[in-house]
Amino acid sequence: MPDTSRRSFFITTAGMASAFGLPRGWARNPSRNPFSLGVASGSPRADRVILWTRLAPDPLAGGGLDQTDIQLRCRVCTDPEMRYAIIDERVTAPAADAHSVHYAAKGLKPHHEYFYQFYLGEDASAVGRTRTAPVDDTPISLALASCQHLEYGYFAAYRDMAKTNPDVIVHVGDYIYEYDPGPLGQVERVVFDQTIAAERVRQHASAEVRTLWDYRNRYAQYRMDHDLQNAHAAAPWIVSFDDHEVDNDWAGYMPEDPHRQTELEFRLRRWAAFKAYYEHMPLERPPTFDRYRLYSSLPLYDRFDFGPQLQLLQLDTRQHRTDQPCTDEMPAAPDCPGRYDNANTMTGRNQERFIRRALRRSSARWNLLAQQTWFSQLRYPGERYNMDQWDGYPQQRVRLLEELGRAQLENPVILSGDWHSGSAMNVLRNFDEPSSAVVAAELAGTSITTPCPWAPAVTAALPDNPHVVYYGGNQRGYLHCRINAERLHAEYKVIDRPGAADCVARIDHSVQVENGQRGIVRA
Ligand code: FE
Ligand code: CA
Repeated sequence: MPDTSRRSFFITTAGMASAFGLPRGWARNPSRNPFSLGVASGSPRADRVILWTRLAPDPLAGGGLDQTDIQLRCRVCTDPEMRYAIIDERVTAPAADAHSVHYAAKGLKPHHEYFYQFYLGEDASAVGRTRTAPVDDTPISLALASCQHLEYGYFAAYRDMAKTNPDVIVHVGDYIYEYDPGPLGQVERVVFDQTIAAERVRQHASAEVRTLWDYRNRYAQYRMDHDLQNAHAAAPWIVSFDDHEVDNDWAGYMPEDPHRQTELEFRLRRWAAFKAYYEHMPLERPPTFDRYRLYSSLPLYDRFDFGPQLQLLQLDTRQHRTDQPCTDEMPAAPDCPGRYDNANTMTGRNQERFIRRALRRSSARWNLLAQQTWFSQLRYPGERYNMDQWDGYPQQRVRLLEELGRAQLENPVILSGDWHSGSAMNVLRNFDEPSSAVVAAELAGTSITTPCPWAPAVTAALPDNPHVVYYGGNQRGYLHCRINAERLHAEYKVIDRPGAADCVARIDHSVQVENGQRGIVRA
């Protein structure tokens, strides 16, 4: 919209500036951009979408605003020039939510493109593009992202993603890493006697994050990246976290290293992490906290419909899981009896019931399950497994395999992240029996930037795991899927030089899942 009309809007409401709590810090520094973290949209439905921004003129120091709620303006238009508004509303950025906005834009048309922008005083945010879900059988394009350790590269994968304009971007976790900063330059890691080199090209701005203040600043540092901002501004996201949004390999109320943080400390840390995650994501529902028992909860798992053709379940395999069994050796630990405990769960009972119900009620042609860690078995030499993945929870996997294998369920496809390498796997009814029925396809996207020092270990294990039909190894990138009535076509897009800001993505490999075929037919 033209500057003058925006100015006049704020002139007429100027008398309300104090009532709106115009931030003192912001008013003193009019050169500072309150929209330093960009915009985002997410949780797309056929008639609505969540629009997000966070006011942060001083993003690495808590945002730079005082403890008053701020009102700003949000417009939703049908054109990128922001001339034809269908929504023009005042929205609140609560101080308690770090001045983030989660505005549900409602009454939208299915599978329509919309443009949105926020305004505060003389400042306007970037213009975001979003798209509602269809109610018919329109083909859908989807990008799958995970694992974006900021120190190990630039977000060239996101630049490519923004360019391809997908209908939806699905993020399955490790949006931030909680760690201390490390020294810049070449880093080497030895796993299974093989050395993998990576390069640290940027640094975390603070020590390992533990408090709400820390997490907020960490998200802000990641979100200041322009390629990441552009990917958020290009399409609606459906997000769920994994471990590094809280603490490496945490499970339920169990931290990575219980000998280094007390249960009380971890309960407060988990709540801070949930809160900051919500504050930076276009989520529909906020977290809740029971301050007496220190229970925290963030509703993440959900079902999304993209017309009668496609159902997408976004799962949360961290918040409700039981502790990993056996030992936590990387990349895989020896098998042990604890692995077969029936009480072990990745999802918790309620979420398992939700999955079963959603799969049984589904009449969709494609049933996507987006979740975090690899679902398929991967047996490493010497009968070893990664206990943080579904291999640590084989009894629950058997129950889900039964659901996925039901004849009435059409085309189940599992999308995963976490392991920093792309792969395509036939999900077998019984992984120990290579000739057993293929019940689903699993497509794992690689990391946006995080290295994969265990890639040689996975490669060494491949002969023993014939259901893995493609393994990309230590490469950065993301997965791009196009889904229509006949097939799901997936491209493994890779970034050859994550340390080069201008690196262009290329397609390393593609696979297809044909309607009615279960499993990967072309690799
Ligand atoms: Fe990761
Ligand atoms: Ca992870």
